[in-house]
Amino acid sequence: MNLYHFSVLGRFFVVHEETGSSFEVDSSTYKKLEQGEVTSELREQLPTAPSLEWLLERLERKERPWSALCLNITHTCNMACKYCFASQGSYRGAESVMPVDVAKRAVERLMNTPSEWVDIDFFGGEPLLGWDTVRATLEHATELAKRLGKKVRFSLTTNGLLLDEAKMDVLDAYNVNLTLSLDGPPPVHDLFRVDRAGAPTFDKVIDRFKVVDQRRKGRNYYIRGTFTHQTLHFSEAVKFLVDAGFKTISMEPVTGQGQPWSLVEEDLPIIEEEYARLAEFYVERAKSGKRFYFYHFEMNPTNPPSVVRRFTGCGAGVEYVVVNPAGLMYPCHQFDNVSRYCMGDVNSELNMPHPDFLKAHAFNKPHCGSCWARALCGGGCHADGYFTTGDILGQNPISCEIVRLRLKYALAVNAALQSDNEQTERPRVC
Ligand code: SF4
Ligand code: SF4
Repeated sequence: MNLYHFSVLGRFFVVHEETGSSFEVDSSTYKKLEQGEVTSELREQLPTAPSLEWLLERLERKERPWSALCLNITHTCNMACKYCFASQGSYRGAESVMPVDVAKRAVERLMNTPSEWVDIDFFGGEPLLGWDTVRATLEHATELAKRLGKKVRFSLTTNGLLLDEAKMDVLDAYNVNLTLSLDGPPPVHDLFRVDRAGAPTFDKVIDRFKVVDQRRKGRNYYIRGTFTHQTLHFSEAVKFLVDAGFKTISMEPVTGQGQPWSLVEEDLPIIEEEYARLAEFYVERAKSGKRFYFYHFEMNPTNPPSVVRRFTGCGAGVEYVVVNPAGLMYPCHQFDNVSRYCMGDVNSELNMPHPDFLKAHAFNKPHCGSCWARALCGGGCHADGYFTTGDILGQNPISCEIVRLRLKYALAVNAALQSDNEQTERPRVC
């Protein structure tokens, strides 16, 4: 049994590493933990951890059906964000838009899986540059799902430049969960998010995103911001977005190395301060009846993830697959055009689950074995590991520290609010 204890925001916590179960404890229990003593009251609360054998059998079971399809509708973009992982939308290749028949074929493959619930995500590049394909896919998938008795959820990530009322009507009609890219106030957003001519974009998207919030009454969308070495003060960015009226927000670190915007180890103390400030703001707003949702602070203790999910994270290449405009399939959007991980195409037999990704769980990642957060994090992002070390089992140590920090503050805010958790729908944010 391994117990990790920590204190943030004046509260004391213990995490049972083998299961990810967490407990808030009083200061005297905490002091005893610091001295290596576990009180009998705490011991009685600890769950029984499943055996490693039992877990591995489930984690590596090949019969897990895939249920999530990401359509990289375009390999092109009408912005040229400097920090873009996808080479300004082209994924290190030629610019292209997915033909309708490729998208339809991919959807038919998805609908053939035994999963009752299926997810379809429109991504890019900028997916609204392939609007005809998006629209035709929404129609086709809805019709197919109805015929086959399946339930389908849609999501779409956009930079907003092409998001007009006519498209919103369609996206609303199909209940498409939107992820809207906006980094914060103009000096923060416009430092990286520029159009193809290098011009700032904040003024071109802010009003469109406010319309989304008004139409959807604060739900069924996320503002997705990015913070970098050059824009570290994300708590201020979140406050700005909340003051602008947005109610569902995420802030993601830019990963990667060697660029002026890449996070470095020296940034970590500032990042911790930012999570602390954000946590205090989040609690203060919630307690004064003006709650907003911050993706990484939303936990649902009454409905925790399954044990398999806890140790495998995102499910890339196992439950989740991406199709690119040429119809080629990869474990996730970040691996698009990484030829060694190509899993076939929409017309050929699909190599699913990908054997390397099936084994890419927290028990096989060497750095995760001694990490207290392994049953909460699941082993991190395979793409981050791959692009940092050349190995999907590799580690980006800065990303790991950020994961651990935000888990601590998420536990603290949920304890502070006594988890009167009304949950909002969460699209994939990675
Ligand atoms: S934080 Fe890092 S070391 Fe810990 S479980 Fe996640 S990926 Fe593994
Ligand atoms: S977490 Fe990483 S590997 Fe998983 S889907 Fe997201 S980008 Fe891909």
